[in-house]
Amino acid sequence: MYDTIVIGAGFAGATIARELAERKGEKVLLLEQRDHIGGNAYDCLDENGVLIHQYGPHIFHTGSKRVYDYLSRFTGWQVYQHRVLARYTPEGGLMPVPFNLTSLRIAMGDEKGAELERKLLEQYGPETKVSVLKLRENPDPDIRALADYVYEHVFVHYTVKQWGTPPEEIDPATIARVPVFLSRDDRYFQDPYQGIPEKGYTALFEKLLDHPGIEVVTGCPAESRVTFREDGVITLDGEPFEGKVIYTGALDELFGLKYGRLPYRTLDFQFERYDREYFQPCATVNYTVSEDYTRITEFKYFLDQKLPGTTIVKEYSKAYTGEAGQIPYYAIINPENLALYGQYKALAGKYKGLYLLGRLAEYKYYNMDAITLKALELADQLIGE
Ligand code: FAD
Ligand code: UDP
Repeated sequence: MYDTIVIGAGFAGATIARELAERKGEKVLLLEQRDHIGGNAYDCLDENGVLIHQYGPHIFHTGSKRVYDYLSRFTGWQVYQHRVLARYTPEGGLMPVPFNLTSLRIAMGDEKGAELERKLLEQYGPETKVSVLKLRENPDPDIRALADYVYEHVFVHYTVKQWGTPPEEIDPATIARVPVFLSRDDRYFQDPYQGIPEKGYTALFEKLLDHPGIEVVTGCPAESRVTFREDGVITLDGEPFEGKVIYTGALDELFGLKYGRLPYRTLDFQFERYDREYFQPCATVNYTVSEDYTRITEFKYFLDQKLPGTTIVKEYSKAYTGEAGQIPYYAIINPENLALYGQYKALAGKYKGLYLLGRLAEYKYYNMDAITLKALELADQLIGE
């Protein structure tokens, strides 16, 4: 009776479900183990009326007009440009991250800052982005000294907190997400489309999934209804299922950890309430040299909510062990883990009609826009077949 089963109601699952129902006229069963839709982008009002992001701060930004136009069918946007400050001294000194020309003056003072700015612009050109790891290889000792300063004050301690290892031991693409930016533009992202869904992410998902072809079941771990038998047959409620299955959860868990656990980092979120108008000067402050948490985010900034009091969240990162209640948030991308992922992917390849989609199922560091685009592209492919 169903053409497709989708497992997981985050951006990956919700987008592909909508596309297959709407553009292909399919009947889609969407199973979500949590008691809500939205995956890690889920938001809700706290008891004081602040719209909080339950699984960490989510800021939408994209260079893809296709993704922006697509999601704009389901939400309007609050204009919002994300700005982040690094608390780069234990005493409370603040400067913009990504480290930029304004940060350079704050860190080095006007005279030395101007001299370094001249050298950097000469070598790399204005408005360019350079990874701190690349900057540390620069032949000019002054630039190298600056790179070491940035490494020490912005990257090393934060990265050790976030990943458990120093920057040079993690995937270089991760550090390159936050480059040194030779600009006075102090926004965290430079994408042409940025914002926060005006009624929140959950409201966006409600519209995205509001289609007669989609049946959503929350509070339902897929394994309670779907079985991946060793003979390559997939069953739904005990009966062989011949349609497509789009899986957006963790791949090791799909196969009972057969080859061992895929390593992830998880986060503990500590929400705190303060009876003052604002807690900090911008939405996110990264604690780059002190404290056990990586960053504090203050939600009121996202929707410019005018409320008495404010809610913040502190993020503590640690190794994911699979303990009940823990959520795998960040794949730890390195050659060894990718090889293990490859073993699971080969196993998944034995199931005709099984597609892997999403940050967990593909073991990738996708932003919301990137996974939405991936889901739209998979839909193009499936609709064309
Ligand atoms: P998810 O959102 O993880 O959805 C997967 C869903 O599948 C979950 O709801 C899960 O419960 C469900 N599921 C898993 N296994 C099963 C099962 N066996 N049965 C049933 N259901 C199952 N991106 C940005 O663009 N901007 C940001 O500012 C940003 N900030 C982030 C901050 C944090 C702390 C984190 C962790 C991520 C952030 N992201 C951000 C990334 C964003 O969360 C992801 O791009 C997005 O959530 C990926 O969507 P997804 O559908 O692949 O995965
Ligand atoms: N990072 C850092 N200091 C910062 C910001 C980022 O060391 O002030 C590093 C850290 O390793 C982090 C990575 O850059 O994991 C990517 O940062 P981003 O803000 O993109 O992380 P996310 O929002 O995905 O957690």
